[in-house]
Amino acid sequence: MDRPITGRFAPSPSGRMHLGNIYTALLSWLSVKSRGGRWILRIEDLDPQRSRHEHAVMIEDDLRWLGLEPDEGGLEGKGEAGPYVQSLRGDIYEAMFGRLADAGLVYPCRCRRADTLATQAPHQSDGRIVYRGTCRPGTPPFSCDTAVSGCAWRLYVPDCEIVFDDVIYGRNSANLARDCGDFVVRRADRAWAYQLAVVADDALMGVTEVVRGCDLLLSTAQQIYLYGLLGFEPPVFCHLPLLCNSAGQRLSKRDSSLSMESLRRDYTPEKLIGHIAALAGISDSDRPVTADELAATFDINKVGRKDKTV
Ligand code: GLU
Repeated sequence: MDRPITGRFAPSPSGRMHLGNIYTALLSWLSVKSRGGRWILRIEDLDPQRSRHEHAVMIEDDLRWLGLEPDEGGLEGKGEAGPYVQSLRGDIYEAMFGRLADAGLVYPCRCRRADTLATQAPHQSDGRIVYRGTCRPGTPPFSCDTAVSGCAWRLYVPDCEIVFDDVIYGRNSANLARDCGDFVVRRADRAWAYQLAVVADDALMGVTEVVRGCDLLLSTAQQIYLYGLLGFEPPVFCHLPLLCNSAGQRLSKRDSSLSMESLRRDYTPEKLIGHIAALAGISDSDRPVTADELAATFDINKVGRKDKTV
């Protein structure tokens, strides 16, 4: 049976949203809404040091201001697959981790600082370190006591090609052993890693398509591998070209004039949506428009692969 079209927006509440975040939110919303689907808001606050409740509150407020109301999710947790806040989903991740451990595929790693970034989605500009298997105890299945603390936990990856078709970037392939190595699924401080949580959540929330920035294209093969191990069907992946500043860098919190705080001062919601639609290439002009109006003629193929300079 076909699953209902379901998309999601999964921001990390580490600050106020900026133009790049709302471009992703708008396109993921349009992609499902133009086909009568539903849209979920999930708060990705796995990193206790970087996440703040007040940022999550502002994210919801900014989305509402734009007219992008989630059908499911958010802090209030509207919907059946909740909670929709990752810090409240530890039991679910524990169960998924248990499945990987039962299959003999995880092992403890005591390499120093091996895991600090694992709770965050690894954006391309963060660079990438390939783990060489220093702590791997031979070949799987491993029989490790997962109650041991003070160490990170890594997932064994095989030396084989993972091939997938992205809606915008076409055919992609990756070999996890060569491209990233065994990756962290749980940090030494017991925080869950982004890769494990995002797969568990998208699968259990019934997400059928993931629309997000193309710097996460690199994570997709890791996630497809996890879908297979956990027995879930992967969604369709649609990675978007990035919005860059005039120096050619991906927009970040440093580009303060593009933060929602200034944007809400300088624009109306319709003017801002019109501006993003023109930037994204889905509208011929930047005239003010609502998200609903754009949904009527939305075509993801118009976005193309070229990064956009704002
Ligand atoms: N929480 C991630 C971020 O804000 C997004 C993860 C995803 O869309 O898969 O970078």
